[in-house]
Amino acid sequence: MNKPWMNLLCCGLRYLEKNNPMEWRIPLADLDYGEAEEQAVLQVLRRRWLTMGALTQEFEDEFARLVGAKHALAVSNATVALHLACLALGIGPGDEVIAPSLTFVATTNSVLYTGAEVRFAEIVGPQDFNISPESIERQITPRTKAITVVHYGGYPCQMKAILEIAARRGLAVIEDAAHAPGAYLDGRHLGTWGDVGCFSFFSNKNLSTGEGGMVVTNRDDIAEMVRVLRSHGMTSLTWDRHRGHASTYDVTALGYNYRIDEIRAALGLAQLHKLADNNARRGEITRRYWASLAETGIGLPFQASDGDPSYHIFPILLPDSADRQVFMDHLKSLKIQTSIHYPPIHLFSYYRQRYPGLTLPITETIASREVTLPLYPGMSDELVDIVIASVKEAVSVSVIG
Ligand SMILES: *Cc1c(COP(=O)(O)O)cnc(C)c1O
Repeated sequence: MNKPWMNLLCCGLRYLEKNNPMEWRIPLADLDYGEAEEQAVLQVLRRRWLTMGALTQEFEDEFARLVGAKHALAVSNATVALHLACLALGIGPGDEVIAPSLTFVATTNSVLYTGAEVRFAEIVGPQDFNISPESIERQITPRTKAITVVHYGGYPCQMKAILEIAARRGLAVIEDAAHAPGAYLDGRHLGTWGDVGCFSFFSNKNLSTGEGGMVVTNRDDIAEMVRVLRSHGMTSLTWDRHRGHASTYDVTALGYNYRIDEIRAALGLAQLHKLADNNARRGEITRRYWASLAETGIGLPFQASDGDPSYHIFPILLPDSADRQVFMDHLKSLKIQTSIHYPPIHLFSYYRQRYPGLTLPITETIASREVTLPLYPGMSDELVDIVIASVKEAVSVSVIG
């Protein structure tokens, strides 16, 4: 059986598989990319400057204006944005940071990178998957240095209560605003409520550059630390030297290469201009889902959310009686993609070993029943209605007994 032509055949099949992924009729998410993004990339190629430069500066300036922050610093992704936020706040060995578990693992990995430990807090409940202020309060110890909140789906956390606790207990607040570009609470952009906010421009986020992130802050000391640490701890950039603004540099801290580049900054600018319209469309789709799924026994969180969310994802809670795998498989058979946001962090093997025996009953119950439905700005009402009808069918198929 071990003939050369067999190898070739296998290679060919693997190639086909890789280049023909599952053809979803309705994917979970889809980019809004077109002429503007193509032109943005071409513009960079023709200017012949690829690393952080004028377009990065422009992207930062526009982003700072959008969110109303004094400083916006573009970086490689939100994971490193969170890492830099922790470092700029002086978080390190011996410190603790309180964070939710119902989030992407980067929220807390970034804390562990610094040598600090995580204290997981509970979420509010079935109507609100965001971190609970009461639970935050219970997790505070003499070692606590900061609270990291996550605006799940771009729905605002209870920032007034959280800032009150932080002020009273002398803690810093980091906002993981990966889902929240274009989201506001009381007219104030999410990510600018705490000491520092971190945004993601990963390809499935509301503003996509492939990989990319942004740190925003009104504090000059944090901005300065982030600026230095994102580029090796150096006092000047290649770009500064190229423009004759500096001829040498010093290294003042143990920094990293956490920079973005001009291609991504240009894509970010193009995407920024579409953000408000796209978030508005996400809101319309969300309300269409809410209206049509109201009497199905499916839980629909965040309907009473404060502020102006960015409607990043559309989570539902299956009834207790439904089997989630059967539900998701049924939709898959109809070529409708779904996902789970999130498998709780504290239940991953690495975290179990690091924090043995930890349980978070509310987080675990909700995480075990959550399913995320397709949502993207280019989704037509027709497609939304197909998902709605299919979800109703899938629920009845998946109910046990
Ligand atoms: C996507 C995401 C991140 C990580 O973002 P990257 O840019 O991929 O590093 C962090 N937190 C949350 C909540 C996310 O959804």
